[in-house]
Amino acid sequence: MKTYEYIIIGNSAAAIGGVEGIRTMDQENEILMITSEPWQTYSRPLISYWLQGKVKRERMQYRDPSFYEKNKCEIRYGTMVEKINKKNKTLQFKSGEIVGYQQLLVATGSAPFVPPIKGLPNKLKETKNIFTFTKLEDVIGIKDILTEKSKIVILGAGLIGLKAAESMVNQSKSVTVVDLANRVLPSVLEEKASVIVQKHLEEQGINFLLETSIDEINSMKVNLSNEDKLSYDILIIAVGTKPQCELVKDAGGEIGFGIETDIYQKTSLENIYAAGDCTQSFDISSEANRNLAILPNAFLQGEVAGINMAKGKAKYNQAFPLNSVGFMGLYILSAGTYIGEEYEVKTQEGYKKLFIKDHRLKGYIIIGDSMRGGIYTDLIRQETDLSTIDLELLMNSPQIMAFNQSSRKEKLSQSH
Ligand SMILES: Cc1cc2nc3c(=O)[nH]c(=O)nc-3n(C[C@H](O)[C@H](O)[C@H](O)COP(=O)(O)OP(=O)(O)OC[C@H]3O[C@@H](n4cnc5c(N)ncnc54)[C@H](O)[C@@H]3O)c2cc1C
Repeated sequence: MKTYEYIIIGNSAAAIGGVEGIRTMDQENEILMITSEPWQTYSRPLISYWLQGKVKRERMQYRDPSFYEKNKCEIRYGTMVEKINKKNKTLQFKSGEIVGYQQLLVATGSAPFVPPIKGLPNKLKETKNIFTFTKLEDVIGIKDILTEKSKIVILGAGLIGLKAAESMVNQSKSVTVVDLANRVLPSVLEEKASVIVQKHLEEQGINFLLETSIDEINSMKVNLSNEDKLSYDILIIAVGTKPQCELVKDAGGEIGFGIETDIYQKTSLENIYAAGDCTQSFDISSEANRNLAILPNAFLQGEVAGINMAKGKAKYNQAFPLNSVGFMGLYILSAGTYIGEEYEVKTQEGYKKLFIKDHRLKGYIIIGDSMRGGIYTDLIRQETDLSTIDLELLMNSPQIMAFNQSSRKEKLSQSH
């Protein structure tokens, strides 16, 4: 049995952050990376753009192909880790092979949640026309059968469901999004913003059936809760994702809304760290533990874990939700939590809303021109006391002049 100084389960944002974190401290010891997928690291948010024909496969790479060699990483593609044995510090693969680790990073991400629906096979892979929408493999399968005559039904009006809709609306006969909620992007936006986004997508040809669910799937048709039937050629299940915590849970680790870690990304198990979509983070905007399944969070947590695994000292204690996303030309930037007093301004393309509590910016939504949204993100991250800031100017024209002189100096020195 071979023992590695570092093993990382995963090959996506958190795992890559892990490698880069380790290499800031230790350029010598070998790293073993293990991934159940067959591909080099790619940027998951780009899968819908590839399906749409907007990006080529080469442009989806999250790191250059030479990354593994340059960073002395051995990579095992298409390999499933089945068990962590914390006592012996070993991992067991599905093939039965066992490898040893000194330090382990679990960066297993999230998996699509598939609700129990009558007629939906247990294994989606056994069907030809029903897909989830989180992996490159999913969109390759969809592309194989998608034609201009395809009728697409998507269950879920969240970010992933709408990205799927956007990618297919101009290369199919129809796209219908079904959701039990009464508005689109219910976990990302508040009501007013949801209405703007829905209207925009309807104008581009996407149909919505809200406050509706799929009761049964039968002979290429879905039976809806409103008693209607809808035929489909491709059915996408996009109702959300769940953190993949099982390996750590089975090894006896603490699990909350994901794998629990401390601010050094260490789990409750000795020599085992975790990062990315599989973890629970402390959201500084809502002051609560949450599963924050967003890419920057995954990378930064991975990097912090890597530094600490290689005997450095780094912490990650500034997590909060942050979404920057475009749908058919309409841009949305949102961050934090929508609590406290609301301040709203109408802008040419949409609107902007800030949420302020106890003199701190807790969250914001910008629909349309999101150019200077970074300033708001920074205010949330730094938990800046807003009594030092010209609020009126910050609302309408968020540039550096909105800060008082000492804050301005501080900001300018940070940017160099
Ligand atoms: C369509 C889509 C659009 C998105 N858009 C955005 C966006 O606009 N902005 C944003 O911030 N985020 C977006 N996200 C979310 C973002 O992609 C994730 O937050 C990010 O990929 C998380 O990275 P991760 O490394 O934690 O996990 P993942 O990307 O889920 O990777 C997990 C890795 O673990 C491996 N793995 C898991 N279990 C095992 C096992 N037992 N054995 C071996 N290998 C295993 C997998 O093969 C994979 O390599 C989007 C996601 C999707 C699907």
